[in-house]
Amino acid sequence: VTDWQGKHVTVAGLGVSGIPAAKALHGLGATVTVVNDGDDERARAQAAELEALGITVRLGDGATLPESTDLVVTAPGWRPDKPLFTAAREAGLEIWGDVELAWRLRGPDAAPWLAVTGTNGKTTTVQMLASILKAAGLRTAAVGNIGVSLLDAVLGDEEYDVLAVELSSYQLHWAPSLRAHSAVVLNLAPDHLDWHGSMEAYAKDKGRVYEGNRIACVYNVADKATEDLVREADVEEGCRAVGFTLGTPGPSQLGVVDGILVDRAFVENRQKNAQELAEVTDIDPPAPHNVANALAAAALARAFGVPAKAVRDGLRAFTPDAHRIAHVADVDGVTYIDDSKATNTHAAQASLAAYEPIVWIAGGLAKGATFDELVAGAAKRLRGVVLIGADRALIREALARHAPEVPVVDLDRTDTGAMLAAVREARALAQPGDTVLLAPACASMDMFVNYNRRGDAFAQAVRELAAADG
Ligand code: ADP
Repeated sequence: VTDWQGKHVTVAGLGVSGIPAAKALHGLGATVTVVNDGDDERARAQAAELEALGITVRLGDGATLPESTDLVVTAPGWRPDKPLFTAAREAGLEIWGDVELAWRLRGPDAAPWLAVTGTNGKTTTVQMLASILKAAGLRTAAVGNIGVSLLDAVLGDEEYDVLAVELSSYQLHWAPSLRAHSAVVLNLAPDHLDWHGSMEAYAKDKGRVYEGNRIACVYNVADKATEDLVREADVEEGCRAVGFTLGTPGPSQLGVVDGILVDRAFVENRQKNAQELAEVTDIDPPAPHNVANALAAAALARAFGVPAKAVRDGLRAFTPDAHRIAHVADVDGVTYIDDSKATNTHAAQASLAAYEPIVWIAGGLAKGATFDELVAGAAKRLRGVVLIGADRALIREALARHAPEVPVVDLDRTDTGAMLAAVREARALAQPGDTVLLAPACASMDMFVNYNRRGDAFAQAVRELAAADG
């Protein structure tokens, strides 16, 4: 679609992606109708703002497809089995997500996209990648969940040489024509299965990121499922499969040798078969999962032609975001770590592997996950466990099965004061030299607005504890 005049576009969902999409399409001349399930005060205020521009909004009816719709643009979180989409498919209409929209609206000289997806580590990797690209003197931005929005990056006045784009499995589901310069699937573990329907469907949506890649499909050597996705993808001729590993790299791989990040895929000097990039100690924090993120970022940057020195400078300049294995305080010889962003078991596994002994604070909304593997793997490192949140019984039962001797405090609370109580209990369990780790392995929405608030509550509780001591 290039001429939007007279086109009737239905935008599904007000909110962070729907409102900018509606405005952008309206600005291009399309006739826009927004449909939204909710009809609360906030939705009405947002609707009023759009209606003032001349956009039609239907509140409280996200199921009915408006007549004469030519195209549906949806918020990524809307489930594919909604009646609205069934009706659209029956009418032979295309359904675009926010990423598809941005991809279609980008200009002819638009910057290429280096795309990052995976179950965990997306935001961190995209930020590391942007930092490396900047160190190489390129005009770039970390685009997606945090940082610049995709539509702004594509339609705004700022000019870019290349974009570091974070993509969720939902977004990929709704982005059929996206073609990245190069892409990575960092890892694949069960998450959001309630939305996708099955692990197979989830993997298939993640794998879409490789479709049509031009230069490199980057995969995780330790996670065979990611390599399988590369094999199944239909890519441009000459596009290479490039692996990253925490071990010694094979040909066409990036890896680690004696604490040094080494590239054997993109070597400038033909006399050599490996290029040293950076040291593990250049990465903050140098925990194994984060070294993996750095290798993935380096691989994409190298695929774009970035020199080794910029990889090192970019990694050194990078600092992690809040609530991702953040050090909060040391109190009475006990270290307190906030990994509130560990909202699923795969993420929690990474931080549980990084410390010992651990007093683990966990629980929240499980999103259909099971905890046996996580608990069995961490059992030996656990000093004790404090459980909070709606689905804590699932974790308690897994602990009873795999770590029966580990003391468990089941707080049986979901109120906001529960975090302070949890930190008190954790402190009582901890001995000097231990780490108290908030890595909930669950979403936060049963108790907090989001994982940021959950992490803030933890940090606040630790500070109160420290102050009461002093
Ligand atoms: P995402 O954007 O995919 O949610 P983040 O970079 O925000 O990922 O990290 C989320 C959490 O996942 C972190 O707090 C950490 O616990 C964990 N994590 C980060 N990178 C990895 C990785 N490569 N493998 C497993 N877990 C990871």
